[in-house]
Order: sequence, then structure tokens, then C-alpha cells
Amino acid sequence: MRQAVSHTSIPTLPSTPSLVAGEHDRRALLAALTFIDKPPRSAPALAGWFEKHLVRPGWMRRPTHVTEAFSLPVSLGPAAPAGADEPELQEIVEAARYRVLASLRAFMPPAADDRFLTAAIAGARVRRAGNPALWEPCPREDEQLGDIVLSLFAADILSHRAFHDAYLCVCKTCLRIDFDPSRSGRTGCPEHEPTATVNVMRRGRPPA
Ligand SMILES: [Zn+2]
Repeated sequence: MRQAVSHTSIPTLPSTPSLVAGEHDRRALLAALTFIDKPPRSAPALAGWFEKHLVRPGWMRRPTHVTEAFSLPVSLGPAAPAGADEPELQEIVEAARYRVLASLRAFMPPAADDRFLTAAIAGARVRRAGNPALWEPCPREDEQLGDIVLSLFAADILSHRAFHDAYLCVCKTCLRIDFDPSRSGRTGCPEHEPTATVNVMRRGRPPA
């Protein structure tokens, strides 16, 4: 439980200076990437992720249950017998994770479908932060897990759209997230070549 969310070494975290320089608050992106790269597999791990990444920054009240799509809510509380709902919880986490990645894949060129951003705004899952150019997540605790994670991505993308348009990569084949389009384009990964037309025709070379 203590170890489950304590790691901060995330393999896909970009080394791009603008992200690690600390000039902007990128905690929402870090929270989202942590969920994607190290999906919490148990109620205590998921509760810990919420606590560290959403409750403590003041973005969300502590949830007692999680749900996704048509699943019944699964308890995160200490009253739940250890491991009782673990298969259900893992299904929720996997379904949420897949829905988030599918939304990000659709956000890649050439479609550049950013409807999840307008949905996050319309659903009041993001709000303007102190600096009016920046956004922060504010999901409600009864919302679907996928929408909560998407609100984290949405807040960072709304705040740093140019960064994501230049660097965010989602492999069309395996949905891997990366931030280095110089290697495999924005829709490939080291193991899967991107579609040539997408990267050559639409994006060309990313800015240095
Ligand atoms: Zn791939």
C-alpha cells in the first residue's frame, strides 16, 4: 500500500526541458501518466493514487467508490474486505485506462479529435486556475474513473496545447505514450512504425 504509488520514475515521462523545469505546474500530467504507466491494481493502491494526485492538491474530494461505464461501483474504503472486489476493480481500471488512451489516440493527427477537451469543460471537470491561461482538474468524486483521468490530461493539454501538439505521441498500434516524436513520429513507437503519410505530410519535423 505504501509502495504502490510512491514511485515517481515514470518511463514515458518526457525529459523535455519545458516539462521538468518547474516553470509550470504539470502535476495533472504527472498524475495522469502515473495512472497510465502504473495502473493501480487494488483498492488501497487506487485510493492512494487519488489521495496523492487529486485530493492533496485540492482538486477533488476523496472518493469512496469508483465506477466506469456499466460497472457497478466498487468501494475504495477500508471497510471493504481485502481483495474481495479486486477483479471488478481491475476491470474498472483497465476499462478506464483503455478509454483514456483511445481518446488520446484520436487526438493525434490527422484526426486531431479534441472533443474530450470540450467534454471536460462542458462537464465542469476542469476549471481556470489562478493564472487565467492555465487550467486545473476539478472532477467530482462520483464521476467515471476514465473521465477523472481524462480531466487530468485535459487540464494539462488546455494549459499547454502547443507542447502537446508538438511532442505528445501515442502509438496507433499499442497506444504507448511518449513525448519524443523524433524517434517514431507522433503515431508510432520504437516497436511500431507510424503511418508515413501521417507524420511526413501532416507534421513534418517537430520543433527543436
Ligand atoms: Zn507501439
